[in-house]
Amino acid sequence: MSPPLPQPLAVLRDVFGFDAFRGQQAAIVDHVIGGGDCLVVMPTGGGKSLCYQIPALCRTGVGVVVSPLIALMQDQVEALRQVGVRAAALNSALDANEARAVERALVKGDLDLVYVAPERLLTDRFLDLLDEAPIALFAIDEAHCVSQWGHDFRPEYLQLEVLHRRYPTVPRIGLTATADGPTRADIAKRLGLDEAPLFMAGFDRPNIRYTVVPKLEPRVGLKRFLDGRKGEAGIIYCMSRAKVETMAEWCVAQGVPALPYHAGLDREVRACNHDRFLKEDGVVMVATIAFGMGIDKPDVRFVVHLDLPKTIESYYQETGRAGRDGLPSEALLFYGLEDVARLRQLMAGSEAAETHKRVEKAKLEALLGFCESARCRRQVLLGYFGETLEKPCGNCDICLNPVKTRDGTIEAQMALSCIYRTGERFGAVHVIDVLIGHETEKVKSFGHDQIKTFGVGKERSRDAWRGTIRQLAALGLVEVDLERHGALVLGQGSREVLRGERRVELREDPPPAIAPKRSRSN
Ligand code: ADP
Ligand code: ZN
Repeated sequence: MSPPLPQPLAVLRDVFGFDAFRGQQAAIVDHVIGGGDCLVVMPTGGGKSLCYQIPALCRTGVGVVVSPLIALMQDQVEALRQVGVRAAALNSALDANEARAVERALVKGDLDLVYVAPERLLTDRFLDLLDEAPIALFAIDEAHCVSQWGHDFRPEYLQLEVLHRRYPTVPRIGLTATADGPTRADIAKRLGLDEAPLFMAGFDRPNIRYTVVPKLEPRVGLKRFLDGRKGEAGIIYCMSRAKVETMAEWCVAQGVPALPYHAGLDREVRACNHDRFLKEDGVVMVATIAFGMGIDKPDVRFVVHLDLPKTIESYYQETGRAGRDGLPSEALLFYGLEDVARLRQLMAGSEAAETHKRVEKAKLEALLGFCESARCRRQVLLGYFGETLEKPCGNCDICLNPVKTRDGTIEAQMALSCIYRTGERFGAVHVIDVLIGHETEKVKSFGHDQIKTFGVGKERSRDAWRGTIRQLAALGLVEVDLERHGALVLGQGSREVLRGERRVELREDPPPAIAPKRSRSN
């Protein structure tokens, strides 16, 4: 008789030496031990590894970990061996003999965990070996590599779907640190995890105070901000190299010890500025997003965006460089119309495929929704990552200075009902055409000039409706379906609004979002 399988908490304590699970770890571990698939999204350092390592030790057989990075594999295996776990890696860094030894151990059941690169896993040779070994689970690390929308696409990841077909009863757990809504859905779909639960956690950075201000007189605003923060280290992000240069000079002229950083500077200058930022106190780095990798400075007190970041994800990442020490820090974003125009233009001119463009567009809309939100910034931000913050945070501009809002229930009902009556199949342009009673060919061909909501919103401008829809999207009452050409669909809670059971608060005078040139394509 085989010995009884260990309990997760006992493994956590006895093997890894930790007292308690963090956040969602316990739920994830239980779920996987029970044989369930799942997708786990946690920021770097969130504790993803234990989510598959412990189930691998608590289930019969070997845990097979797919990982694209040999260096990381090696580190993990090293660390596991140190605590007595039987772990090995199979990758191109091994010679033939070493590889054979690992394979033998695998088949004999002498391994708790085996790390393997995707291209190796997918060979017939390896799959044949797996057929002979009992498998505890498959962990797919850096799961975003399966998505072309991410920044790290690896074509081999697309074939990992074979695991499910070949070993339908073995639980699979996908893990990643980066996944906004659309990418997340894409990952789940491509890995065949769309039915599996999603565990997201750990994205909140409570010590960072988020503030978004209209970009009216940015230098005046920036000066006031910097005057209150003499001697503090910070980063000021700008869109272009030229702007980095002028703003760095401007800062110096204001008496702020600022340095420029962008990819166009000489390597030595860059290295020197980077170094001074890390080592000296109170240096302000004026930079493009080229400044980011490897900034491991705990006491960055503020991150300012003088221009709109590309996506909510990049905003989260860039502002996340503030306050690593846990002390109060600021994230200040200047949000201007020209940014919107510029991003739209960039997108319109991009060579990307249509699907890709639609994703980009949805991401931009989400970012604008964040900027225009009348809701706690942190709730919107975390909501974007799929995490729920029950109460407003009390540490963002909206919580501290609530914006004027108006009762937008009626206009929300108009928009939602229009989306519903047109079958939740159309993008914003068409829905707005119907709302304002614009008789386009498309409207007529679908008979949407005959429905009840045709023209109900004609008192308001197209831009006003865009703002409303964007705010509804920010509230989650409307969702954008990327699988279907950016079609607007009703989100959670929208039915309550339609039935008159829920009031909708909208922001007064949202900054009108302008397109570079009114184009009629969507
Ligand atoms: P990720 O893979 O999400 O980036 P890791 O799995 O490497 O994160 O974990 C980050 C750090 O947190 C590691 O040093 C790990 O040992 C530690 N850690 C993870 N879970 C716990 C826990 N429950 N208790 C204490 N430390 C933990
Ligand atoms: Zn808040």
